[in-house]
Amino acid sequence: TPSRTRVAILGCTGSIGTQALDVCKQHSDKLEVVALSAHSRTENLVHFAHEFAVRHVAVTSEAHRGDAVLSELPSACELHTGSRCAEELVELEDVDVVLVAIVGAAGLSVSHAVLKSGKRLALANKESLVVGGDLLMPMVQPGQMLPVDSEHCAIFQCLLGENPREAHCIWLTCSGGPFYGRSLDELADVTRHDALAHPTWNMGAKITVDSATLMNKGLERIEAMHLFGMDIDRIKVLIQRESKIHSMVEFEDGSVMAHLGASDMRIPIQYAFSYPERWSTPAPRVDFREIAQLTFGAPDMESFRCLKLAEIAAKQGGTLPCVLNAANEIAVDAFLHDACTFTGIADIVEACMDEHDCQKVVSFEQLSDVDAWAREQARGIISSRF
Ligand code: NDP
Ligand code: MG
Repeated sequence: TPSRTRVAILGCTGSIGTQALDVCKQHSDKLEVVALSAHSRTENLVHFAHEFAVRHVAVTSEAHRGDAVLSELPSACELHTGSRCAEELVELEDVDVVLVAIVGAAGLSVSHAVLKSGKRLALANKESLVVGGDLLMPMVQPGQMLPVDSEHCAIFQCLLGENPREAHCIWLTCSGGPFYGRSLDELADVTRHDALAHPTWNMGAKITVDSATLMNKGLERIEAMHLFGMDIDRIKVLIQRESKIHSMVEFEDGSVMAHLGASDMRIPIQYAFSYPERWSTPAPRVDFREIAQLTFGAPDMESFRCLKLAEIAAKQGGTLPCVLNAANEIAVDAFLHDACTFTGIADIVEACMDEHDCQKVVSFEQLSDVDAWAREQARGIISSRF
């Protein structure tokens, strides 16, 4: 069927990527998977290439471009390698929508390529906006960028048909993570195992740790600031333990619009593909008669210091959010390899931010240099302190 939307999924082997493939399978009458990228899990990539009869695949990690399993790709499938291979998939003529489900600042150049191509950008990679929002947002055509992050997808929907200037503030909801209620002292001996046991969502390791430190919510505030053009002070973090309210928008007249539903990422992924339509889905539903209560609270910024650091980065702006993000990526990776403590993550990020000479964002090259500087800085701190 030529009328199907042709989808490229970048980062198809991850949590969002595989759920997106699920959505494509569910709606194979409307969606056609034409291109996939993976970084290291080439075996899974080959499997998906067969399952979806994909015409183009890319392997972004240099170390995995020669994996023997790649010889088992379907014969009609073209393998892209090289430093621009993900961008090459974006530029393919037969791609309509690109889901950027890559993790980390590595997604920035790809998001940039999608916006430049004029194609729809279904954006899961929040780091793109945290790092490069100043450069990306002016490129966005109306209706071109659809946020996949559940809170932002919720806010996007609350704002439909509204005048964004009449929005007074955003209530960005947060489950609180696995360490909700703990003091800074009680966070000191948290292990990798504890942090990876997230109560609500089944996600990749990096965002799972970010959800435990609340850096994720800090990054999401910056993401919302760019997406909805709102001052950081008007983006308020709200603890909503049950994760049933996905976020809310409060308007000037005091009315509050909330988005509710099941905690299932396939819903916002699908919406980013279907917008402005809504497609029937077997995703789980909420029976509101069975919800005894919804609880709310304010976040504890003293214990969850990453939330505070992200606020500082947002207020300063310029290249500081890039430093926040890069240092966090290195620190989280170190924590996942037992090379720093849980509370050490905030220490590392803060030390890198303190050392940074903040500049106005002028180019992608500059961001790439700042990103590399921050990573080097963070590695130095880790090897000297931990
Ligand atoms: P995962 O770690 O599960 O998956 C990451 C994907 O990116 C994998 O396909 C991986 O390939 C690929 N990848 C890793 N490093 C690179 C790189 N340097 N260059 C290109 N590709 C790379 O992450 P998630 O799916 O959890 O998250 C993806 C993005 O979506 C993140 O930005 C996250 O913040 C965001 N997000 C995720 C949510 C979730 O529920 N998981 C919710 C909201 C947002 P491979 O596996 O082959 O190595
Ligand atoms: Mg989110």
